[in-house]
Amino acid sequence: MERLQKVIAQAGIASRRKAEELIVEGKVKVNGKIIRELGTKVSVNDKVEVNEIPLEREEKVYILMYKPRGVISAVKDDKNRKVVIDFLPEIKERVYPIGRLDYETSGLLLLTNDGEFANLLMHPRYEINKTYVAKIKGIPSRQSLKQLEKGIKLEDGLTAPAKVKLVSADKKTQKSIVELTIHEGKNRQVRRMLEAIGHPVQKLKRERYAFLNLHSLNAGESRELTPHEVKQLR
Ligand code: URA
Repeated sequence: MERLQKVIAQAGIASRRKAEELIVEGKVKVNGKIIRELGTKVSVNDKVEVNEIPLEREEKVYILMYKPRGVISAVKDDKNRKVVIDFLPEIKERVYPIGRLDYETSGLLLLTNDGEFANLLMHPRYEINKTYVAKIKGIPSRQSLKQLEKGIKLEDGLTAPAKVKLVSADKKTQKSIVELTIHEGKNRQVRRMLEAIGHPVQKLKRERYAFLNLHSLNAGESRELTPHEVKQLR
């Protein structure tokens, strides 16, 4: 049994606060009867409706995927390109990605059908660290790396301080590998930050998301998060 507002929020149609408002306003029915009591608990067998529309009551699933390059972080694509869901053939629940990685970026991507969980993780307030490994053109100076750490002025604002590590630099080929940890999610942020200091990205991979990593997964593979991992992320 779970609280009504939690069940509504998990279905992804409203935040828990908004769900409470909907209940108080008399917009929510349980088994055909309007319920205004916030403490009401419901089971999976109860029929919940919000504004006369029945809630989908799927079991919640949480998936960690190693997204390959050349795949769209979406459920479907207008141009029929490969999407991340194509790599989850056995999943009957309708999951969707939490945030996105660029088409050309590979790495750790979470998927779920728990709308509340997804909103929570994407909320800037949670400042979840994400670590990217980038292969870049050229060899960045110490000063350039400092600039990344302090924040870079992009057209949509200043980036928050980042953690930066120069992993390797090859003088002969003039290529380097840098590790960048950020907690924001501006569009193409890592690519734009590195471009801004004069080192365009040639390859980008997200290695870590909070405490999660890609250990033992190959590109295209995925696994379910453990209940403990889900709890830790909340
Ligand atoms: N930053 C980028 O530039 N691309 C991604 O896919 C993720 C972060």
